[in-house]
Amino acid sequence: MGHTDEDKQYRPRMERLSVDKTALEASFNHYLTYFLGRSTGTTPTYAYNALSLTLRDRIMADWRNTSLAQKMPGVRRANYMSLEFLIGRALGNHLLNLDIEPDTRAALESMSFHLEDVIEAEADAGLGNGGLGRLAACFLDSCATLQLPVTGYGIRYQYGMFRQEIINGYQDEEPDHWLRDGQPWEIERPEYSQRIKFGGHTEYRKNDQGQLVAQWVETNDVIAIPYDMPVTGYHNNTVNTLRLWHSTATDEFNLDEFNSGSYTESVGAKNSAENISMVLYPNDTTENGKELRLKQQYFLASASIQDVIRQWEKRFDGAPDYSRFSAENVFQMNDTHPTIAVAELMRILMDEKKMGWNTAWRIVTESLAYTNHTLLPEALEKWPVKLFEELLPRLLDIIYEINSRFLRVVSQRWPGDTDRQSRMSIIEEGPVKHVRMAHLAIAGSFSINGVAALHSELLKKGLFHDFYELWPEKFNNKTNGVTPRRWVAHANPMMTELISSKIGDEWIKDLSQIDKLTPFADLKQTEFRNNWKAVKQANKMRLAKLVKEKCDVDFNTDAMFDVQVKRIHEYKRQLLNVLHVIHLYNQIKKGNTKDWSPRCVLIGGKAAPGYLLAKDIIKLINSVAEVVNSDAEVSDKLKLAFLPNYNVSSMEIIAPGADLSEQISTAGKEASGTGNMKFMMNGALTIGTYDGANIEIMDAVGEDNFFLFGLRENEVEELKPHYNPSDYINHDEDLRDVLNLLRSGHFNSNEPGIFDNIMNTLMNPHDPWMTLADFRSYVDMQQQVSAVWQDQEKWQTMSILNTAKSGFFSTDRTMEEYNNDIWKLETVSG
Ligand SMILES: *Cc1c(COP(=O)(O)O)cnc(C)c1O
Repeated sequence: MGHTDEDKQYRPRMERLSVDKTALEASFNHYLTYFLGRSTGTTPTYAYNALSLTLRDRIMADWRNTSLAQKMPGVRRANYMSLEFLIGRALGNHLLNLDIEPDTRAALESMSFHLEDVIEAEADAGLGNGGLGRLAACFLDSCATLQLPVTGYGIRYQYGMFRQEIINGYQDEEPDHWLRDGQPWEIERPEYSQRIKFGGHTEYRKNDQGQLVAQWVETNDVIAIPYDMPVTGYHNNTVNTLRLWHSTATDEFNLDEFNSGSYTESVGAKNSAENISMVLYPNDTTENGKELRLKQQYFLASASIQDVIRQWEKRFDGAPDYSRFSAENVFQMNDTHPTIAVAELMRILMDEKKMGWNTAWRIVTESLAYTNHTLLPEALEKWPVKLFEELLPRLLDIIYEINSRFLRVVSQRWPGDTDRQSRMSIIEEGPVKHVRMAHLAIAGSFSINGVAALHSELLKKGLFHDFYELWPEKFNNKTNGVTPRRWVAHANPMMTELISSKIGDEWIKDLSQIDKLTPFADLKQTEFRNNWKAVKQANKMRLAKLVKEKCDVDFNTDAMFDVQVKRIHEYKRQLLNVLHVIHLYNQIKKGNTKDWSPRCVLIGGKAAPGYLLAKDIIKLINSVAEVVNSDAEVSDKLKLAFLPNYNVSSMEIIAPGADLSEQISTAGKEASGTGNMKFMMNGALTIGTYDGANIEIMDAVGEDNFFLFGLRENEVEELKPHYNPSDYINHDEDLRDVLNLLRSGHFNSNEPGIFDNIMNTLMNPHDPWMTLADFRSYVDMQQQVSAVWQDQEKWQTMSILNTAKSGFFSTDRTMEEYNNDIWKLETVSG
């Protein structure tokens, strides 16, 4: 697409602009006055835009220098492809990374702006559903901090994750127009646009050598335009790139329609091209098989691969040496969402680069790596073959060929085992044929990883057992993490200062050093312990203020803040939490309140709009909250609030203010969890099942500092055929009381019947989440939590130890592992 300044590879380093107070103030004023046309009396939104542009200027030199260094011939690069990046706000994070917060604050103050108000004016970039998307954002932060040459590739959705409102206790979804007030962080780069094909059909033509070559023709094309966001490293002058694709129409007309005079129809048809990047699908753990979603997936994979190839080919003087491609490029695919990349890279190498199958396949299988995020079968993507035929006919050809060669390998390894062949096939046979994306991903990748130790083991034993037997060397584990910059240094500045006052501040970029905090858990460290308590108390004030604003519920900061925030899903068992709250309510009403530990229970999270039971759960939480909070007899002992619109920015207030972290999924169902890690780092204690990364958290902090309960994964599996909810009800008076109260309509006296579906799933012997099986053990462990709360000294010790032992859960460690085992990149500095 023409010559650009990127072609000139060797240019002098750019110098960073000055970051002192005077320079910041002058630049801010320039943007506010001359670019935005506002005066200092303006709203925080314009101040936010002016300040962000000021900072972006200060990032630009490092960004350019890093980018050029990564383009040098021979530098191996990784590309993280993800349909989701749950970034949150950028301004505060860049201030931290550039180490210019004090001067920025002072500059703003001198113009009568408050930094906090300006930070608050930024809309969250909510381009993700939950843990998977937030993980991608934490990964990028760590890669920049570790100076790893990693580029993020995603979609620039015009509408991110919906905004959740609660109306009469029910979830209401409102569009998230996050771009409306301006997006100062992104830079549009139309000169690097890519053309993406859809539809049409395959034709075979003879080339000059008389060989048949495939051509994908008569397609309806879409243009992908990249928008770049800077990803700053922590105090290291390194800035990586997140490249997000926006879809738009080509400027070609359909000539037939044009000639027949239907000019407006012809223009109108172009709307469908704009639709591809319009909205994020709000499904966290189920795929709904919509055509537009498959288009998004191919759009991302194709645009990103073409972009990587374009950049890489520039290293050569017109004659790229493809024998070096896989030595210099690696792609990490975040879940199966972008795994159509397997077939797309084959297509490009064969149809456009004119390679034979074997050469192309070797490059593909040396360049692609796949991360699995779930054990739930309903979350495994499969697409109707018919849909592929219509949208991506050439890719379907290639998938069939991959499959037939793959099945030959399977049958050589297990001759005559036709069951195994049909189990492993990339194509699922049946009345409606499907393409199994996970199988395509495994066949085309050199590395397949799970996201916590248990999860990776269960993949090998269960879901992917056949593949593990075939290729054991491909399988590995990479336990998730979270970035300590956003989740501690930025979200919890008071705790950060306290920690650094004792062990220095190296822990912020090397979290293994947080272990040096361990001696400060000692009872003799009274000053530190008092400060620790005071910081938690202040953070609880901040959280209580949020709860008051958003829920109009009063949280007393002397009570235990008991928090469960995450997507609403049956497997995460918010229902178990609610049953416990009802149990506590019953105890209070019965007068069993000796040595009572007051609790403020906070629950938050979004339900997928089509997931009706999850929406019922939200209504139940709100209904129970209304009864509990309006009962004078209960008031100082128990509170319940549902926090609307849980997102990254609210988590930055929630995690520092939590005392107890609820991680109570049915064992074997939560792949990892990362919310659990944010809470641990911020000094909350965990009540949790033996599931996902909870296991590794408990190993790190010790069983004595973790409230473990419930069935283990193998026990869940063994119980499954015999599970009978009535058994538990018959033998447990507390459970009986809770369910009777629920059934009686006590929490829905004006809306009879609305919780029938919830009651029915709880009572169903086929309930896969087996909520009632863990009720007793959960309530008993909560009783122990309450007992420890009475011993505040013990609680403080456990809290400090949780933070001190959280070093393993930094994404810096996770990224080091990806790099050592999968990517094998050298660090690059700008
Ligand atoms: C960390 C995070 C998640 C993931 O939470 P889990 O408890 O691991 O499911 C989801 N959403 C947001 C906004 C987060 O910050």
